[in-house]
Amino acid sequence: MARRERKLYPSSDKRSVQAPVLKRPDDALDGIVVRAYGKYFDVAVEDGERVLLSTPKGTLKRAAKTTDLIAVGDRVWVVDVGEGEGRVEAVLPRTRVLARRARNTRAVEQIVLANPDQAVIMMALTKPEPHLRLLDRFLIMCEAQGIPAVIAINKIDLAGDIEAGRAATLALLADYLPSYPVVPLSASAETGVDELRDHLRGKVTVIAGPSGVGKSSVMNRFDLVLDQAIGELSEATGKGRHTTTAAQLFRIEPDTYVADTPGIRALVLHGVEPDELDECFPELRPYLGHCAYSDCTHLHEPRCAVQAAVAEGEIPTKRFESYASLRRGDTSE
Ligand code: GDP
Ligand code: ZN
Repeated sequence: MARRERKLYPSSDKRSVQAPVLKRPDDALDGIVVRAYGKYFDVAVEDGERVLLSTPKGTLKRAAKTTDLIAVGDRVWVVDVGEGEGRVEAVLPRTRVLARRARNTRAVEQIVLANPDQAVIMMALTKPEPHLRLLDRFLIMCEAQGIPAVIAINKIDLAGDIEAGRAATLALLADYLPSYPVVPLSASAETGVDELRDHLRGKVTVIAGPSGVGKSSVMNRFDLVLDQAIGELSEATGKGRHTTTAAQLFRIEPDTYVADTPGIRALVLHGVEPDELDECFPELRPYLGHCAYSDCTHLHEPRCAVQAAVAEGEIPTKRFESYASLRRGDTSE
């Protein structure tokens, strides 16, 4: 089923950096910012496995007013100035951003990751027990920011055998299968890891999920090509330490990056207004706009198209309950 991609915060708002109209220098290389250290940035050059410790050129600094000038994930033009260092000539326009926003406002506090192509939300089949309401919160965050999500369920080996683990995963996530790709996997048994890698190829992916579900273990199954290079580089130059809580990108294949985002749990549901919540459930979207009241909350109004769809089994009851609970502002879950 084709999924409609909604952007509640389109990239035309003030959070996008518009690169000044610039002539691309002949010696500029395409790169992506993989790590930020205050005023220094590691830029991975796309023609190979080089990382340049870079600073923005002067005219760029003055252009940034309403948002971070350069963020991890930004696509840039960089000039190699020698000795492993680079100069950022231009930041290409951002397609979308994963940002920390202040509560109840759309003001941006900090860009965590620029240009995320998708998110992988990871849960464990068991240990820790899967928490579907928390999964919903992560999915809402993705939907609110227009980021396609993939659900990964790790530790399927703990079901006894792999096939039983797969079956248990599909049963557990039956309500989600029409709306999201679901990947059962086991980092320990090294099964499903290649399938997850297929989802990552050619994209910048943020991996999120509660601690203990196996995010680091799964990351360790990938070859983190740039990981080593970054460590060596910052040691060699002694410049800047990784002080921010912003994301860091790891290259696992050409043009394929996985983001490690320490503060991502803090992002959950920040900035999603109650009246935007229905848009964040793909199952509800086909019915929105068909209720008797245009500002229908779908909780108690008569002639509500969403309620009717739930009654007819078109919308999974549990997902609707998750919506209703969040819409009512329940904080217990
Ligand atoms: P993170 O906090 O999400 O990064 O989780 P970790 O990668 O640190 O894993 C938490 C614990 O789960 C560790 O003890 C891992 O060895 C264990 N673990 C990770 N993946 C698997 C798996 O596929 N199967 C089993 N049985 N244990 C796993
Ligand atoms: Zn309604």
